[in-house]
Amino acid sequence: MEVGRTVLKNCKQCNKVFAHPTRHLCEDCYKEAQAQFERVREYLEENRGATVAEVAEETDTDVEVIYEYIKEGRLTVVPKDAELRCQICGTKIASGRVCAVCRAELSDDPRIPPSQQGDKDTRMRYLDAIRRKRR
Ligand SMILES: [Zn+2]
Ligand SMILES: [Zn+2]
Repeated sequence: MEVGRTVLKNCKQCNKVFAHPTRHLCEDCYKEAQAQFERVREYLEENRGATVAEVAEETDTDVEVIYEYIKEGRLTVVPKDAELRCQICGTKIASGRVCAVCRAELSDDPRIPPSQQGDKDTRMRYLDAIRRKRR
């Protein structure tokens, strides 16, 4: 990432050019995305046991977007028919992003200093590396 220089990019949603160091959406789309997430989150909290289809219908949100929230681990209450899968090996899991086996493998690896384990980018790059290694 460039430091001290404004990075211009196109909004992933509406393609408008905007400047922001980390976001992929322009201000308007970002706000809309936040509001949409809130709608989904609130609906699920009030309607525990709702299915993905119901949530999509009631909150006017794409099913793919809802699965995206689930995958990102942003929802505290997930739709009852949603399946969480390990991001590395694809095993069904009850919560979180990776299964116990992959998590153990991740934490044992000395290539990531503990100080960087909280850094999302580093973690994602690392997950990619593992995926490549397994192929
Ligand atoms: Zn936009
Ligand atoms: Zn796994």
